Amino acid sequence: MPVQETLGIEATLEAGEFSGEGVSIEDEIAAAILQSERSQAEFLGTLESGQIPSDGTEAAETTASYMGRFTAFVAGLNLRHFSAQEFLVLGGSNGPGGRCAGRNSLPPSDLWPTLEPTARFVDAIRARLGSSVVILSAYRAESYNGCIGGASRSQHKRFCALDLTPRAASVSALWETARSIRAANGSFTGGIGKYRSFVHIDTRGNNADWVG
Ligand SMILES: [Zn+2]
Repeated sequence: MPVQETLGIEATLEAGEFSGEGVSIEDEIAAAILQSERSQAEFLGTLESGQIPSDGTEAAETTASYMGRFTAFVAGLNLRHFSAQEFLVLGGSNGPGGRCAGRNSLPPSDLWPTLEPTARFVDAIRARLGSSVVILSAYRAESYNGCIGGASRSQHKRFCALDLTPRAASVSALWETARSIRAANGSFTGGIGKYRSFVHIDTRGNNADWVG
């Protein structure tokens, strides 16, 4: 796949506000994690009030019911390193004060199966890397994806893409680990994109590599 084409698919930096002159990679990663955690805390706050972010494709359901079903789905995958909630991050720009606040929604349940190979891939990456990793971006609803400048064909809209940043390893080590596992294991085919402060992983069905 031509480099320009792959760049056009996923070159979206959610924490773009932090990139630039004079900001170290370490500070950029820390800021991205903090922003994601703030956004998620706000989302978890909505659990108590019973509101569920929805893109309107599903019938009304309480957040507790949705979370219960999704937790059971992820439990069935028998992952070693990730909890269900980690796959439901709504993105740093979705949080209070974010430039796309409230534009994302939880992934519709008909998309959950497309997460499975990606979840297994990142679980294998996490085991090999030996450092915990933070998921900064997972599902993106159309409105949110458009707002943050995501490409129209982004794999995040299908819920088969995750943006990861390491807590105690380098982004390069995370990237190399992902490429090594994909090369050695026919179970995973997909895109691996390296950015300054995170790595994009998806299982689109064909291999693609790029540096953003
Ligand atoms: Zn991505």
